[in-house]
Amino acid sequence: MKIRNPRTGEDDYAIAPMDGAGLATCAAEMRERQIAWAAYSPSQRCKIILRFADAIERHRDAIANALILDTGRAAISQIEIDGVVGMIKRCEGSAPFMIARASAKDRPTSISNVSASIQLVPYPLVGVISPWNFPLTLALIDAISALAAGCAVIVKPSEITPRFIRPLMAAIAEVGELPLTIIEGDGSTGAAMIPLIDYVAFTGSVKTGRAVGVAAASAFIPASLELGGKDSMIILASADPVTAAEIALRASVVNSGQACQSIERVYIARAIAEPFLVALAEKAKAVRFNYPDINGGDLGPFISAAQADIVQAQIDDARAKGAHVLTGGQVETLGGGKYLRPTVLASVTPDMSVICDETFGPVIPVTLFDNEDEAIDMANDTIYGLSGAVIAGTVQEAEAVGARLNVGAVSINDGALTTMVWEAEKSSFGLSGLGPSRMGESGLLRFFRKRAMIRQTGAAQSLAAYAENCAKSNRS
Ligand code: NAD
Repeated sequence: MKIRNPRTGEDDYAIAPMDGAGLATCAAEMRERQIAWAAYSPSQRCKIILRFADAIERHRDAIANALILDTGRAAISQIEIDGVVGMIKRCEGSAPFMIARASAKDRPTSISNVSASIQLVPYPLVGVISPWNFPLTLALIDAISALAAGCAVIVKPSEITPRFIRPLMAAIAEVGELPLTIIEGDGSTGAAMIPLIDYVAFTGSVKTGRAVGVAAASAFIPASLELGGKDSMIILASADPVTAAEIALRASVVNSGQACQSIERVYIARAIAEPFLVALAEKAKAVRFNYPDINGGDLGPFISAAQADIVQAQIDDARAKGAHVLTGGQVETLGGGKYLRPTVLASVTPDMSVICDETFGPVIPVTLFDNEDEAIDMANDTIYGLSGAVIAGTVQEAEAVGARLNVGAVSINDGALTTMVWEAEKSSFGLSGLGPSRMGESGLLRFFRKRAMIRQTGAAQSLAAYAENCAKSNRS
């Protein structure tokens, strides 16, 4: 399978998707290895996972170079590696404690002489299916927690960004005990994996997430679905418009808008709309591409050529329906890569695709409102419910509005904070996902089933204690 390079547009790499027989062998091998893995204590497992972080550091250059080719961006590729190493260290510091706390020791129950303890039993084999926008982070964010829980893990990253898999596998090979493997393949590989695993942790689009959810239900396994979003930012009249413009720009266009928690709709109080739009357009025009120098500029190319077409179609639809394009607006082809300057749209209406559908590009549609209720209604008028943001003069004022948003996380006086903060557990509302939070303690504990050991320490009751005649005589 040929793979396109996002900076040159050339097919310069190839993968061999794992076939059904390969998957079956892989799953059997991982199940076998999981038995020894689960027998380690949580802290022993975490120490081994920590060696994986060291191995990633040893292979850092090769992994980074592959990620740079996969995504066309340099700095964020290094940030991804730092983030994964940080994730492993945090897991090592916290997972054993969380597991111990959740494994309840023998405790009395409401029945006299009967006590109970809870054992945590890991799902033997977890499958992770991940997207292309943060290839390394999203391949490993769920995998690390699942490994700490005692599961074996097969990861199937996106076929759009597969170059990092081989150098990452070289790092995994240096930690022999680790039951983790990363396989090459496309959607059909992901679909074929689901009947072979015990839990699927999926990150991707709503459309694929729905198919994965149905397949998981057929296979009778749990699914964590982390899907798309259409995050809104509400800016109240008490906010400073220039600061708000700075926040909105960063939260919308970082990583060229290719982030699930990107701000994709801005609602601004009419009273401060003019200075906001002036500042936003000025700041947006100052943003530079990382072309021709990958180490310069702020925005990389679209990783997926198909996404560039989707974003352009949304802008064209908005323009045709009367939106004003204040900056950007046209995907540019430079050296074979597809780039879009931050695109600020005014005079947008709810019937435009750029307001209804996920954009996944550096586009900022701005809508004015006259009162908070109107802003909240517009923000909630969506099938998605991933996250959102509110900016106001005070935290209290922003929180009061944030509490009325139908989303799983709200950034207060900032934007798109969700992925930076691991401790804050969040659910996905609406079509943005299903299952427990991937962040915080839930992100780890979802990979366990609970086994209750219920102990009778007195005399077990006889049949007579339950018999009808006995109940009758007790009553009489
Ligand atoms: P996608 O749904 O097209 O693909 C995701 C993964 O699913 C890929 O590995 C793909 O090969 C695989 N896949 C495709 N069809 C499959 C099937 N039938 N069965 C099993 N696996 C299958 O998504 P994408 O375009 O790679 O990623 C972009 C999407 O991901 C956006 O919607 C974005 O919002 C979302 N996303 C969500 C989060 C989050 O945390 N909520 C994070 C990042 C990205």
